[in-house]
Amino acid sequence: MTASVTKKKIVVIGSSNTDMVIRTPRIPRPGETVLGGEFFMAPGGKGANQAVAAARAGGEVHFIARVGDDVFGQQSLDGFVSDGIHVDLIVRDKDAPSGVALIIVGPDGENCIAVASGSNSRLGVADVRLAKPVITSADIVLMQLESPLETVREAAEIAASAGVPVVLNPAPARALSDDILRRVSYLTPNETEAEILTGITLIKKSDLAKAADALLAKGIKAVLITLGSKGVYVATREKKEVMPAFKVIPVDTTAAGDAFNGALAVALAEGRPLLEAARFANAAAALATTKMGAQPSLAGRDDIEKLLA
Ligand code: ADP
Repeated sequence: MTASVTKKKIVVIGSSNTDMVIRTPRIPRPGETVLGGEFFMAPGGKGANQAVAAARAGGEVHFIARVGDDVFGQQSLDGFVSDGIHVDLIVRDKDAPSGVALIIVGPDGENCIAVASGSNSRLGVADVRLAKPVITSADIVLMQLESPLETVREAAEIAASAGVPVVLNPAPARALSDDILRRVSYLTPNETEAEILTGITLIKKSDLAKAADALLAKGIKAVLITLGSKGVYVATREKKEVMPAFKVIPVDTTAAGDAFNGALAVALAEGRPLLEAARFANAAAALATTKMGAQPSLAGRDDIEKLLA
């Protein structure tokens, strides 16, 4: 994109956490203590990561969320502002602490995460109703599942009734009612999430098609099943294919999926064809695996374009 292109309005609704990360020689087993490397703290949470990913990928981002009235919440807000994200719809909740995630990163970049949701679990239907004018005037709405499902449902309903496309990243994995799925335009599960949503175990390539068809049958326009280092399986009723990942040396895959979703939302909002949008998202996600941490690892538009070229 050249600087002259008007930025598209991306509304992200979801969680904000502070990630506390330790790299270890291996992921500890239950009961085991493993001595790790340096402790590392950075803003994270799927909603916040995707908001930042979308802003850096070139979107005009409005983030709807709740943080606590504490130092973690303030640090997160400061980060959003420095990324140019609109924060006026973020509630500072006096009655719950900010969300926190404890993350262990193994040697090959695999991770293991526990989350205390805090104020994220209080992002309510009333919060999204208050944001209705912003949602209905968006080019695209992007959500995940670290927020209460009734909130996700309400936001999807508000967006869909106004003809605003909804990207839902169904992470972390949980089953979803048809009531939510039929309001989604683009669904972006990873393999585990696709299995949980469909009950289909993904072993062969034909299983991907089966799972995608089951989801498309709910009324979703396109299903993009992310396949880690293998890329993404892009499925519509007309066409299904794998868009391969970019070859990089991963050091930490935290937020790869978030980078993918934020960038995908921007590319779709800009009117790029689905496969081109998926390739743009793959590039942003590959870059995110080459750096430690969630938000610090998210790439800017220039770096994404460079990798695409
Ligand atoms: P999640 O992180 O949500 O589990 P995936 O592991 O499927 O999701 O990764 C999301 C996307 O990140 C992939 O579709 C791909 O574009 C990118 N990605 C993940 N791992 C790698 C890797 N090792 N090399 C290049 N790209 C990767």
